[in-house]
Amino acid sequence: MWDTVIGIETHVQLATSSKIFSTGGTKFGNSPNSQIDYVDVGLPGVLPVLNAKAVELAVKFGIAVGGQIANESIFARKNYFYPDLPKGYQISQFEKPIVVGGSLEIKSFDSSVFNVPLVRAHLEEDAGKSVHDGVENFFPGFSGIDLNRAGMPLLEIVTEPTLTSAQEAVAYGRTLHNLVTWIEICDGNMQEGSFRMDANVSIKPRGAKKLGVRCEIKNLNSFRYLEKAIRYEVARQIDIIESGGMVTQQTRLFDPVKNETREMRSKENSDDYRYFPDPDLPPLIIESDYIEQVGSTLPELPDHARSRLSKKWSLPDDLVMSICSKKQNLIFFEESLKYWFRLTSLKFNFDNPDEILIRRSKILANWLTGELFSILNKENIDICESKISPKKLSEVLIKLEDNTLSKKTAKQLFSLIWNGEKGDINKIIIDKNLNKIEDDSAVEDLIGEVISKNQKMVNEFRSGKEKALNALVGQVMKKSGGRAEAKDVKEKILLLIG
Ligand code: ADP
Ligand code: MG
Repeated sequence: MWDTVIGIETHVQLATSSKIFSTGGTKFGNSPNSQIDYVDVGLPGVLPVLNAKAVELAVKFGIAVGGQIANESIFARKNYFYPDLPKGYQISQFEKPIVVGGSLEIKSFDSSVFNVPLVRAHLEEDAGKSVHDGVENFFPGFSGIDLNRAGMPLLEIVTEPTLTSAQEAVAYGRTLHNLVTWIEICDGNMQEGSFRMDANVSIKPRGAKKLGVRCEIKNLNSFRYLEKAIRYEVARQIDIIESGGMVTQQTRLFDPVKNETREMRSKENSDDYRYFPDPDLPPLIIESDYIEQVGSTLPELPDHARSRLSKKWSLPDDLVMSICSKKQNLIFFEESLKYWFRLTSLKFNFDNPDEILIRRSKILANWLTGELFSILNKENIDICESKISPKKLSEVLIKLEDNTLSKKTAKQLFSLIWNGEKGDINKIIIDKNLNKIEDDSAVEDLIGEVISKNQKMVNEFRSGKEKALNALVGQVMKKSGGRAEAKDVKEKILLLIG
């Protein structure tokens, strides 16, 4: 019956060490009003000076999304009153933003691909914060104004209204988050507000050309909230229209506790803000040489890395997505592979991967997404602080590849190293008795023992209970201290009792 139409505006806090127009610091969580400068508190007679780093990061983004970097862009004053805005206006860009157009290619987990065109990306300053009910010892019992955030550099990235569902919106949000952290223009910390999304939502009769009246839901700082807020809002609008009413243009807030959106104010239009060029800031002129120079500092983009891993290396989609969800993951992955090649005296070729590279990359990818990522997650450690290095991991995998270790003992070795076991890997294997039982007859002895002691299970298996076989394998594995290969054990047992 209804089409959903969504456009997203994202405020990306740029990773600079000082504010966009002043020397104030940009750390998160400092005591209120401890990192402010005259400009941030709006004292009369002080002038803003544009932070060159903020420009560089915005240009980086523009190039990465294939947008046009404006040769001339203009800072404008957006006028409104709010206690956390001492100047009475926010410096933003209006008619001439720094980046025009560009797009993002989105790959969902179900492998479907769609393109999200961007309208623009513009530079602006953040406002301060009203703090209610006091903060620790600072404003007990009162509301206060904390201007630490005033003047933080933001890049606001605006999409065309082409997203059609909450899932698409989330996929877009994740892809954008992945990109801005990958190219290191933003720390991506959503709890601290470094990446905040506004969702503009409307509905229209299925297939209609004309867009419906939209509501804007402000400041969604998690993908879960983004999804919930959109779902709620779509249902609310459908309800209104189907019961004969009309949606009014509004700015709404999402309440995660009640799981609903509610009105904050009726939506203002841009003329309400009386935008005009800021007389304190000259036009920003960007030359093509500069764009080229900034472009040369960009790393391989996530998009490209993803298609390289899946097309050239034939890695399955889920592994590709998981490895490319973070640049540091990809670096760890490729470092490990490189060591694996170097230590086995093979030449490593990224661009024309041969059979061995393809086989090893798949084994490694499974180890990363399985063993490594789960322990990082569990211990809440960043991959840069991994307690096993790419080199050590590759050493473990070499021992698995040459059959010194079984899968099980390789995992044991991984966890020993993770927990601080140092030194030569061969020595650890001997000291801890991890090497695989190579001797077939030794494994067969163990199997014989287990079978004769567990006739009941054998009979169960023979009468069709598949699980009994796994139980037998488990017993043999246990007796071998994990040093037999489960797959071989299973085959051998089947030969005897199958
Ligand atoms: P404003 O600056 O007043 O918020 P814009 O026209 O710049 O308004 O649009 C802001 C966002 O709203 C954009 O992402 C745009 O794609 C989206 N948008 C505009 N019209 C609609 C609509 N009818 N339904 C859903 N989203 C919309
Ligand atoms: Mg808006």
